[in-house]
Amino acid sequence: MIDLQFQPLFDRPQQRPLRIAGPCSAESEEQVLRAARALAQQDIDLFRAGIWKPRTRPNSFEGVGTVGLKWLRRVKAETGLKVTTEVAKRDHVFEALKYGVDVLWIGARTTVNPFAVQEIADALDGVDIPVLIKNPINPDLGLWIGAIERIYKAGITRIGVVHRGFSSHRPSRYRNEPHWNLAIELMRQLPGMTYLCDNSHICGNRELLTEVAQKAMDLNFTGLMTEVHPDPDAAWSDAKQQITPSRYAALLAELTIRDQTSDDPVFLHNIEDLRGEIDQLDEELLNLLGQRMQVAEKIGEYKKQNNISILQPSRWNELLEEAFTRGAQHGLSKGFIGKLLSAVHQESISHQEVVMNRKTVRVRP
Ligand code: PEP
Ligand code: MN
Repeated sequence: MIDLQFQPLFDRPQQRPLRIAGPCSAESEEQVLRAARALAQQDIDLFRAGIWKPRTRPNSFEGVGTVGLKWLRRVKAETGLKVTTEVAKRDHVFEALKYGVDVLWIGARTTVNPFAVQEIADALDGVDIPVLIKNPINPDLGLWIGAIERIYKAGITRIGVVHRGFSSHRPSRYRNEPHWNLAIELMRQLPGMTYLCDNSHICGNRELLTEVAQKAMDLNFTGLMTEVHPDPDAAWSDAKQQITPSRYAALLAELTIRDQTSDDPVFLHNIEDLRGEIDQLDEELLNLLGQRMQVAEKIGEYKKQNNISILQPSRWNELLEEAFTRGAQHGLSKGFIGKLLSAVHQESISHQEVVMNRKTVRVRP
C-alpha cells in the first residue's frame, strides 16, 4: 500500500454513486446548454464536455478551444452544475482556471506521458482543485500510479481516477478492454481515492453501457462518467457511444446499487463462516502447490541424471487439454485454466532449472 491521503472531490450529502455526464465534445453553445439543462433535471454531480480533443488522426474535429470555456461558464450560471473539462498542457490548465472550471481531467493519451503530466502538475502547484486522472491507454499500472503521484506532489489531494479501459490489438467486444484486475489492484494499493468508471469509452457503443456500469457498481466504484449528447447520432466525436439524456436516466434507473457491507449480525456471522472456508481452501491449495513443486524438483533431479531437457511440449499440451476438460466439469472457464496452469507450469520449470543447473561441489580427496 502506498501512503497517500486523499480527500473526496467535493461535499456530497447523498450516498448514491457519483454521476458525471455530458457530451464527449462541446460543439456549440446551444448543444452544450441543451445537454446541461436536461442533465440538471437528473441531479448529476458534474457536467463534462471536452473542448480540447486529443484525436488519433489529424483533420478530425479537435475541439472548439477556449470559446467553449465561456459556454461552460454559462452552464454553471444557468443550471448551478459544476463543470469539468480535459486539460493536456500548461496553457489548458491556466485557461480552465481563469474561466472557473470546477474539476480538471487528464485524458488517457496524456497519462501515458510523464513529461505532459509533470507539466500539468507544475501548472497546478499550490492550486486547490479536484483532478481526475484517466488510466493510460496501455495497461500499465505503474504509469497510472506515477501520474497520480505527480499530481499529488503538486499539493492536490482531491484526486479521482477514471477507469476508461485499455487499447488492445485483439478483436474485442469493447472499444477499450476493461482489464478490471488493474482497477482492483489500484483500489488495493490506493484506498480512499475516488474511483470512477467511464463506461462510454470502455464500451464504444450504446448497447454495453448498462452492463459495464453495473459491473463497476458491483466492484464498489464511487461513480460513473458517461457521455450524454442531446442528439448522439449527430455528435462530432464518439457518436456511436453517446446516449440521449432520457436513455441516461433509464441507465441510472436500471442499476442495482448494493451496500459495501452491513452491520446485521446474522449476515456478518454467515459471511465470516464462508470466508473461513475460503481461507481453509486457499491454505490447502498452497500446500498442494508446494507439494507439486517438490515433485517437480524430483523430476528435475531425475532428468539431470539421465541428461534429458526440461521442456517437453507434447506432455504440456496433453496436460492442458486434460485440464480444460476436467476444469469444465467443475465450472471453470478455459481462459482461467489456461492462465492458472501456465503460471504453475512456469513455476515448476523454474524449480527444475534450479535443480538441474545446481553445480555439484566436488570435495577434493
Ligand atoms: C473523452 O473523455 O472524451 C476522452 C478523450 O477520453 P479518453 O482520454 O479516455 O480517450
Ligand atoms: Mn469521447
